[in-house]
Amino acid sequence: MIIVMQAGAAQADLERVVARVEGLRLKPHVIVGTERTVVAVVGDERDAAGSGFETLPGVASVMPILAPYKVASREVQSETTVVRAGSLVVGGRAIGVIAGPCSVESRDQIVETALAVKAAGATGLRGGAFKPRTSPYSFQGMKEQGLELLAEARAETGLAIVTEVVSPEDVPLVTRYADVLQIGARNMQNYRLLEAVGRTEVPVLLKRGPSATVEELLLAAEYILDGGNRQVMLCERGIRTFETHTRFTLPLATVPWLHARTHLPVVVDPSHGTGHANLVASMAAASVAAGADGLIIEVHPDPKCASSDGAQTLDFAAFEQMMQVCRRVAVAVGRDL
Ligand code: PEP
Ligand code: MN
Repeated sequence: MIIVMQAGAAQADLERVVARVEGLRLKPHVIVGTERTVVAVVGDERDAAGSGFETLPGVASVMPILAPYKVASREVQSETTVVRAGSLVVGGRAIGVIAGPCSVESRDQIVETALAVKAAGATGLRGGAFKPRTSPYSFQGMKEQGLELLAEARAETGLAIVTEVVSPEDVPLVTRYADVLQIGARNMQNYRLLEAVGRTEVPVLLKRGPSATVEELLLAAEYILDGGNRQVMLCERGIRTFETHTRFTLPLATVPWLHARTHLPVVVDPSHGTGHANLVASMAAASVAAGADGLIIEVHPDPKCASSDGAQTLDFAAFEQMMQVCRRVAVAVGRDL
């Protein structure tokens, strides 16, 4: 349920509400918005039946949260969450663009890419150091050495680093380097991993599982939010369907659907969503038109030599062109890029 505080409620009123919620063995999430403060109460709400919050001083109203996800719901926070990670801001008027290789491969590769994508307007640098690969025989990433190279690229360019963490044990290590922790599609329902990143204060990019519904995506986000980390971005990266002309099927209706139901910003990944470099720019532009708050794009100095996902990766010139098209679309829909 949501306990809405009166506009001028005193801090003591809020503290009294929080204490009463905790006394019921429920968890209060205080959400301070620009217009109102609410306490989202999560847990088994049967425990709150007849608890009389309405009559406490400073309380304006009490209402149920209808959605199965709670803290993620627009019902508890009407303003979109702005995720801030150094140079990368996602959820405001400006669209955040995260670009870089699928995998970190060498110092030259990551630094050269960081300089090129920054020059084209990217505000975040992606690069996998821990790679979750379908085959155990495929390149698994440079691991800690890859994280060190990402940190060098950040030092050279100032770009925030977005990199994947694949297991709860690796969270402390990856957190030492990353500005944004990426939870990959394969791990969207790895609940122990979601809890582990929920205990950090590092912003999270949560990718949709290829066979997960959007409601399951929101419930996965809820694990992170419930842990106390509110800096969460959702990422549509395509789902598995019967269709084979693209690697996955990229459903862009997800973007306005999510915007209606959650305050979390939405990023689209047209690289994994299509699997083909020649489709990426069109789908990036379509994502911006659909209202995406951010894009994540695979870019490599020489895609045909990339150690992973080369077929869907843009070279520097193609990325620059994509940015020009997306910038025009962004202006047309009232955004900046
Ligand atoms: C990636 O971003 O390189 C990646 C592995 O993506 P996904 O988890 O969406 O497959
Ligand atoms: Mn990839």
